Amino acid sequence: MSVNVPKIGSRVRVTTVYPNSYAYRGEDNNYVTYTREGVVVKSIFNDPFMFAVETGAPDHPVSEYNAKSQHVVKIEYVIGGASKVATDTKAWKVKSTDGKKIYLVQRVNGKFSCTCTGFEFRKDCKHVGAVAKKVA
Ligand SMILES: [Zn+2]
Repeated sequence: MSVNVPKIGSRVRVTTVYPNSYAYRGEDNNYVTYTREGVVVKSIFNDPFMFAVETGAPDHPVSEYNAKSQHVVKIEYVIGGASKVATDTKAWKVKSTDGKKIYLVQRVNGKFSCTCTGFEFRKDCKHVGAVAKKVA
């Protein structure tokens, strides 16, 4: 999973997904999502895929992101003042048929995606199919 690096000065909302270290293993929701909104500023890292978002949050005023990171799943451009927030973001982990790999299936505002190569090429895969069937 990767996103395009947003332009400096634009206002964006970045959605990230991380393993939920508190979830009981085997539960559906092994992942938690975070959404931060702010203005894109230059990253302190000398890496073309890194970007920073100035959120102004007291605890964490600037968040650094790597556009190539599997954790950064979505960037939305915010135009004007009030904006709609992505509210329905969920993730599931699905084992490959041989059990050797784990793919991350995500549903953001009703739209599914998967981290497997099949989805990358066909925009559909059996992992998404399995999750969609389960949560339907
Ligand atoms: Zn897949």
